[in-house]
Amino acid sequence: MTDITLNDGRTMPALGMGTYKIPDSQAATVVRAGLDTGFRLVDTAAFYHNERGVGEGVHGSEAFVTTKLWNDRHDDAEAALDESLALLGVDAVDLYLIHWPVPSQGRFVAAWKYLVRLREAGKAKSIGVSNFLARHLERAIDATGVMPAVNQIELHPRFQQVELRGWMEENGIVTQSWSPLGQGEVLGDPAIVEIARKHGRSPAQVVIAWHLALGLSVIPKAGSPAHLAENAAAADLTLDDDDLAAIAALDSQDGRIGPEPMSM
Ligand code: NAD
Repeated sequence: MTDITLNDGRTMPALGMGTYKIPDSQAATVVRAGLDTGFRLVDTAAFYHNERGVGEGVHGSEAFVTTKLWNDRHDDAEAALDESLALLGVDAVDLYLIHWPVPSQGRFVAAWKYLVRLREAGKAKSIGVSNFLARHLERAIDATGVMPAVNQIELHPRFQQVELRGWMEENGIVTQSWSPLGQGEVLGDPAIVEIARKHGRSPAQVVIAWHLALGLSVIPKAGSPAHLAENAAAADLTLDDDDLAAIAALDSQDGRIGPEPMSM
């Protein structure tokens, strides 16, 4: 599995495991199963209420751990991160993200200033954002001169974010795809199924390999050891130009599953 170099000089595994909706009581078992199959990055958030279990699961490993600042803590980021660190059982998190910009609240620039200080204090080794549009990134960068290392956004074959992805590539910010399998919905798409048949692999592996082929970081969520192993093994699948063109054609303006960032 490959690493991606971040704009702060640190490296991050390109492929990680998501943990949204994995209950705290099951998170340690699922995370350990994921690490056993080769995952080295685990994505959680205060909002997922499973940081204690995730922390137990990664304990004693070298896993890269991401967590996120929830929307009601934009003015209280240090205390919020301290709570996450205590639950995770670590002194510092590898990557700390602002979960949503919540433009109606108008506090995401303040939150970004806190994250810059938390990185200086060593409590977050790298810092970034999630669900930011280019206009939010510009405001945060202008206010601090500090580039987020990562922007984690909804991205899957039905919602490919070509414009925002291009903007981030030009600006040296890593795009990390959430709901990368379209929450499972894209796996039955005939084009994906056909590519999977051609390579003798599974649809989920095709979609994960597509994210990696685009140079994205990707965090599919799976609860079962079988799906975790299948997803980890996607890292060695190479798609050809015909496959990439067929998947590019699945993009849709209305393909978004989650909330539009400006709506919050
Ligand atoms: P996903 O696209 O990863 O899809 C998960 C679904 O696909 C589950 O139902 C799972 O059972 C199924 N699946 C997984 N592997 C499979 C396989 N090999 N074969 C068949 N089905 C398979 O959706 P997600 O969980 O919404 O997103 C992934 C992660 O992204 C989350 O767990 C979370 O960590 C992160 N996320 C972040 C945000 C954000 O706002 N930053 C929002 C949503 C999710």
